[in-house]
Amino acid sequence: MSQFWKPGTEKPRILDDEEGGVLFFSGTPSSSSGFRYSSIEKQRQRLPVYKYRTAILYLVETHATTIIVGETGSGKTTQIPQYLKEAGWADGGRVIACTQPRRLAVQAVASRVAEEMGVKLGEEVGYTIRFEDLTKPDVTVVKFLTDGVLLREMMDDPLLTKYSAIMIDEAHERSISTDILLGLLKKIQRRRPELRLIISSATIEAKLISAFFQTRKRRGLENEELGLQLEPAILSVEGRGFNVQINYAEEPVPDYVQAAVSTVLLIHEKESWGDILVFLTGQDDIDIAVQLLNEEAQTNGKNTSGLIVMPLYSGLPRAEQELVFSPTPRGKRKVVISTNIAETSLTLEGVVYVVDSGFSKQKFYNPTSDIENLVVAPISRASARQRAGRAGRVRPGKCYRLYTEEYFLNKMPAEGIPEIQRSNLVSCVIQLKALGIDNILGFDWPASPSPEAMIRALEVLYSLGVLDDDAKLTSPAGFQVAEIPLDPLISKMILASNQFGCSEEIITIAAVLSIQSIWISGRGIQKDFDNAKLRFAAAEGDHVTFLNVYKGFLQSGKSSQWCHRNHVNYHAMKKVIEIREQLKRIAQRIGISLKSCDGDMQVIRKAVTAGFFANACRLEAFSHNGMYKTIRGSQEVYIHPSSVLFRVNPKWVIYHSLVSTDRQYMRNVISIDPSWLLEAAPHFYNLQRLKPITH
Ligand code: ADP
Ligand code: MG
Repeated sequence: MSQFWKPGTEKPRILDDEEGGVLFFSGTPSSSSGFRYSSIEKQRQRLPVYKYRTAILYLVETHATTIIVGETGSGKTTQIPQYLKEAGWADGGRVIACTQPRRLAVQAVASRVAEEMGVKLGEEVGYTIRFEDLTKPDVTVVKFLTDGVLLREMMDDPLLTKYSAIMIDEAHERSISTDILLGLLKKIQRRRPELRLIISSATIEAKLISAFFQTRKRRGLENEELGLQLEPAILSVEGRGFNVQINYAEEPVPDYVQAAVSTVLLIHEKESWGDILVFLTGQDDIDIAVQLLNEEAQTNGKNTSGLIVMPLYSGLPRAEQELVFSPTPRGKRKVVISTNIAETSLTLEGVVYVVDSGFSKQKFYNPTSDIENLVVAPISRASARQRAGRAGRVRPGKCYRLYTEEYFLNKMPAEGIPEIQRSNLVSCVIQLKALGIDNILGFDWPASPSPEAMIRALEVLYSLGVLDDDAKLTSPAGFQVAEIPLDPLISKMILASNQFGCSEEIITIAAVLSIQSIWISGRGIQKDFDNAKLRFAAAEGDHVTFLNVYKGFLQSGKSSQWCHRNHVNYHAMKKVIEIREQLKRIAQRIGISLKSCDGDMQVIRKAVTAGFFANACRLEAFSHNGMYKTIRGSQEVYIHPSSVLFRVNPKWVIYHSLVSTDRQYMRNVISIDPSWLLEAAPHFYNLQRLKPITH
């Protein structure tokens, strides 16, 4: 390996940290404003991280693990992989990997880096997200990928041998896959001392991760042969943004979407130039806000001229994503309405005003009720600070918090909880098992999952026939389920469809369930939307309805007009077709032959039950408001208004997922016969539990 750092050249300043030999660099802040017209090379050199280029390369050369902390926008994601490449880490057929927790971020940064390097995306610089691989073997040397995809790659190549350096980016997010990866990479390092890890983070969460990688307790400080430091180095890339003035709501706001819209209009009216970034929670509220802003001019005569409103969330088509990053035309003001993806994963140039709803969508899991759902929940103070920071990139900015100061100080949690501690662990367990890690509770976790959640996961996997009495993967079912890159419940449903002779249909359903929504909805068009949906509605439920939409789409010749007329999302349907193709290939690889059941809906419902029996619910007798209870935990749940079974209320149903707003709502529901539960999972549902069936 070429030694890139030469004594005598700009030598990095190293401060020894008393506590455990951690290295710490500091430097002078730099500003990076006003480089819109300069060349790409100049732009790169103006980024705060550029000053540390030599230091970073030195640390990576001499340390097994390097932790880099730096403000969002300082250039960590786009620059460090390029520095590594320039220093020779991609020579000799080796690859540099950089992971992101979010798919959209993977696409956006890969495309930016390809542009900076002057190469076509998919050649030297590529990316891989689930169901989309834009890399070329032997050509791609800088590869961006989701943490989940890297984890999957370990199933084929447990030591990740093709990578010379792996950058785990956005580590502060503490996504479940990042945490699992950190644990596994620590193991891999022992077998592959030549592998370099770079862990980057926007917050000081780094200390924690550094402690996790401390190895001194177990072994010597240095790997003598390689002259390699095994203790992690920490480098802090300074380069803080400008000051951001914080404004709080005086009173709690009753409707944060409406409040966000009014605040944007107020900023547009009163404040000087500069783009606005609004943080809402997901596609649904973002679409509504975009629509409201676009309507304001017509209905309330508000001055919205000069405003360019754009949504930003995962699942947005690539062309629309790119618009978000394009420079704002002179005399215009861009308003980007985003999920927390713009909090640290993506940098938007030109933002001067931030509007923070104080919420994000978060996953929560309760092992007692065995319920995982997506909840709109308060963000942490750490997140709120990150969001505010986004206003100070180009010049001093302002942040409008749609909550009171009292709330910020006393009600918001200081830090978020790592995802692994608020997730259902079924996927996690099966992946670790597939990698040969049997003692999962004893695994070296950055943060331990709860034993209750772990036991629940083992129990479900056992009932699915994926684990045997010794908690080992069963053969072939367990290995087949692990092979399919989907939620194990969906994978099991696909396996079962093979026996039931309906794999054609089930694979379509699996493809639809793996994207957010195939419908286009919005305020004010509810009625049209409901009518459109009625055209496809199946008495059996949403899963069968999806089959009808899919059939209609194919019959229309995959027409976008057809989609428009039927309130179906054209991009989503194209994605469904793509995913379906990939699933077909995977199914064939693991020995599932594609068969259609020719309209026999019963077998389709049985296949769904075989995967999702744990989500069975029964309508409460005498319930007038459609209240169901989960069979397992007796939790109150309701059919979501978006379901075709809303108000139909069949006696027994299975849901695909839960969302929680004022109540727990079941999304994507199918009616079943309770006797199928016993057939599908005799251990899970003993007769005692299902007794109420008989009346
Ligand atoms: P970090 O990872 O430290 O948050 P990045 O490497 O993502 O920083 O971004 C560094 C700079 O590159 C940002 O300031 C931004 O201006 C620019 N940049 C990143 N992505 C894009 C893009 N898709 N389009 C235009 N500029 C971008
Ligand atoms: Mg980044």
